[in-house]
Amino acid sequence: MTVWGRINGENAPASSFTRENHTTAPEASSALYRFFQSAAFRPRFDCIPTAFRLRSTRAIEKKECFLYHTGMEILLLGNETLKRKALPVKRFTAETTKIAEEMIALMHAGKGVGLAGPQIGLMERIFVTHVDGDEPRVFVNPSILETSEKTVKYEEGCLSIPGVYAEVIRPEKIKVQAWNERGKTFTMEMEGILARVTLHEYDHLEGILFTDRIPESKRNRVIAKYEKRKAVS
Ligand SMILES: [Zn+2]
Repeated sequence: MTVWGRINGENAPASSFTRENHTTAPEASSALYRFFQSAAFRPRFDCIPTAFRLRSTRAIEKKECFLYHTGMEILLLGNETLKRKALPVKRFTAETTKIAEEMIALMHAGKGVGLAGPQIGLMERIFVTHVDGDEPRVFVNPSILETSEKTVKYEEGCLSIPGVYAEVIRPEKIKVQAWNERGKTFTMEMEGILARVTLHEYDHLEGILFTDRIPESKRNRVIAKYEKRKAVS
């Protein structure tokens, strides 16, 4: 493993964050997962994020998309906010938990596997993931502690660049430290899709899109394809 980051004390939000819960396999978001499984969670349908308008009106008519009351819109490629670096979450409050819950709802609504703060115009270091076979996870003020030297190529997409995909090379395994939606810190080793999505979302916090990680000629093709799709939708 190549170490290029480390736990930074300054990243720790004030208030209820604690550092006592370092484990290699944390139940990072089990409470949140139970919440989404419970009767208390009631999706509402009075908000249509931009991504859906671009995605397909036909899908909305067919009610294939679940739209939640979030008040959040997903910013799309071309929006300068996506290029800005997010700032650490300074205080963990009930609002942080609520934002995390709404981000997960929006991610699910968009059929995405990850969503980062800057994608909804929130310039704070927070992102959520939910990959197949895993539970929803929340990462607040994450640090990538280690990355494997071995890299893998895999096709990626992004809710901010709907409809286009490209192969991106990333480390196969990583070790991450972050705080979850309950304000508890955790450290986790991951590989496969979860590692990939985590790196993709972490990039968003740095103002980097997956299209920035592919060769220029390929990037131009991907962006041209996206612009074409946008024009006809
Ligand atoms: Zn993305």
